[in-house]
Amino acid sequence: MIYLNTGIVPKNKALIPVFDHGFLYGDGIYETMRAYKGVVFRLEEHIERLFRSAAMISLKIPKAPGEIKQAVYETIKANGHMEAVIRLTVSRGAGPIGLDPGLCPVPTFVIISGEFRKYPVRHYRNGVKIAIVNTRRNFRGALDPRIKSLNFLNGILAKIEAKNRGAFEAVMLDYRGYLAEGSISNIFFVKDGTLCTPSVEVGILDGITRKIIIDCAKEAGIKVVEGRFRKEDVYNAEEVFISNTTMEVMPAAEVDEVKMPAQGEMARALHKAYKRKVAEYIRTPRHTHIPGTSSLKDLSF
Ligand code: PMP
Repeated sequence: MIYLNTGIVPKNKALIPVFDHGFLYGDGIYETMRAYKGVVFRLEEHIERLFRSAAMISLKIPKAPGEIKQAVYETIKANGHMEAVIRLTVSRGAGPIGLDPGLCPVPTFVIISGEFRKYPVRHYRNGVKIAIVNTRRNFRGALDPRIKSLNFLNGILAKIEAKNRGAFEAVMLDYRGYLAEGSISNIFFVKDGTLCTPSVEVGILDGITRKIIIDCAKEAGIKVVEGRFRKEDVYNAEEVFISNTTMEVMPAAEVDEVKMPAQGEMARALHKAYKRKVAEYIRTPRHTHIPGTSSLKDLSF
C-alpha cells in the first residue's frame, strides 16, 4: 500500500503522470526514514529537513508537519510494518514541458513503506570496502548537497564507479579535493583517538545519523573535529566508518586497497550508543503520539 497525495492506495493504483516534473527534471525532494518496533526514529527531524529542502527549491509542501507525521504512520500501518524503511517523496507535480515551477500547480506527495531488510552481519563484523571515487560531490554553489534532491545522478555516478571497483560505498571529494561524503552516507574516521568528519561547510548533507553519532561521541568524552580533510587523512586513519539512517554505523575495513589497522572499536562503541538512543526514543511516549489519534495504539498494528 502506498500513500499517494491524499490517502492510501494499493500499489498497482499508485501511479503518477509522465508529466510529473519529478520524473522529467528530478524536480523534487525526499527523505528516507526507519521505523523500529513501529516507531519512526527521529521523524520530527526528517520532517524538518524535508521542509528545509523544500524551501531551498521554492517548493510548497501541500501538508503541515503534523499531517505528514500522520500520513507516515498511516502508511506503515496500512502495510503492517514494524521494522520499516520509509521513503517520502515530494515532487513539483505534473505540468507542461518547461522548467518553470509555476507550470506545476499541485506537488505530488508519495510515501512508500518497505519491510526493513537487514544488512549482512558480516558488514558490521568485518567492515565493508569503500572506494574514494573520481566523481566529485556537487559544488554547493550549483546544487547544494543539503537539498535532499530527487536529482541523484551525482551519487549514482559515484556508485557506478564504486561498484566497478568492488566497493560497497563510494565516497566523494568536493571539487577542491576535500573529503565530502558517501553516495548515500556520511563518513567518519578516527585519528589519534579523535573522531573526525567533514564539516557541513564543505558541502555535504547534514545527516541525521551523523548528528546523533557526534552527540554520542561527545557524551562519551571523545574529541570530535568537524573540518576539511584530504583522502590521505582517511588512508592514515586508525578506523573509518560510514553512517546513514538505514545502516546506522557501518565500519570500513578497507579504503582504496588500504587496510584499516583497527578492528573498528570506536565504530562499535558508537553504534552501541546509537542503538541506545533508538531504544530511548521508541519508549518515549511523546515521540509516538500521532496527531489526530490519542496514541500510537489507535493505529494498532
Ligand atoms: N549523505 C547523503 C548523500 C545521503 O543520501 C544520505 C542518506 N540520506 C546521508 C548522507 C545520510 O543521511 P541520514 O543520516 O540522515 O540518513
